[in-house]
Amino acid sequence: MRGKRVKKRRRTLAGTLGFMLLVAGIYAGFTAKEWKIGGPMVSSVVDAAPPAETATSSPPVGVESPAPTPAPTPTPTPKPPEVAVRPPEIHHPEQYKNRKLVALTFDDGPDNNYTTKILDILEEQHVKATFFLVGTQVVKYPATAKRIVDEGHSIGNHSWSHSDLSKLSGDALELQIGKTQQAIIQATGVTPGLMRAPYGALSDGVLDAIHRDGMKHIYWTVDTKDWAGSSVASIRKNVLDHTHKGGIILMHSFGGKKNALDHTVKVLPTIIKDLQARGYELVTVDELIDSEQVHPSVIK
Ligand SMILES: [Zn+2]
Repeated sequence: MRGKRVKKRRRTLAGTLGFMLLVAGIYAGFTAKEWKIGGPMVSSVVDAAPPAETATSSPPVGVESPAPTPAPTPTPTPKPPEVAVRPPEIHHPEQYKNRKLVALTFDDGPDNNYTTKILDILEEQHVKATFFLVGTQVVKYPATAKRIVDEGHSIGNHSWSHSDLSKLSGDALELQIGKTQQAIIQATGVTPGLMRAPYGALSDGVLDAIHRDGMKHIYWTVDTKDWAGSSVASIRKNVLDHTHKGGIILMHSFGGKKNALDHTVKVLPTIIKDLQARGYELVTVDELIDSEQVHPSVIK
């Protein structure tokens, strides 16, 4: 009895095994077909690339094509460079991960003395900053305004004549903002997207006017008080003590008390080195906004 049962079981086992093998065989055949379908498509691309063309078309570029299959030359896709250039409107906060950003800002210029000295330092240190310009200065020194933009810095509107905008309304307010905007566009070809009201003096009406002109209002997080004649040591200490990730440092590139900005020029290289030594990257306000590191209350 037992023997029979075992035999029976063996037979059924063998049957199942056979069936499984059959199924496996069919499946293997099927997948092999699938691979075949994929195969010719790939090889046809390789085939389509005539080796003769690579040999004749660009002999001096031999260095660039040591790989045996650099062949997709027959259909040169003209798109890649456009994809590589990053349009500024695209928002990429993830690219700022693990980076500590901070922005230097210079108000009240341009001029042909402090602003140019500051630009020289920034150029030497490969650092980008943001300049909030006064309209009356822009029309006096359009070349300096243009240089700011040409050297990759951001530019913002800082009113026409450094008035307290919170005391203005209507046409007077529109003129302070709009006329400056036009002067900056004329001098630099760039339409500012940033504004800083003189003294940071905002009202609802001023903020509305700024927004109507398509701009954001930018405060600061560190006031160096350089315009008042603060010493080099106190400006340096102030910046070191109060700068945090996402900070905006306020300095000036024109005006202030007599010779006060000599200190700004003198301390600037030290400040840049100090901040970099602490792991900060100095960027424009636009980049700082893009990074989302700046505290929301600083941007209106
Ligand atoms: Zn100012």
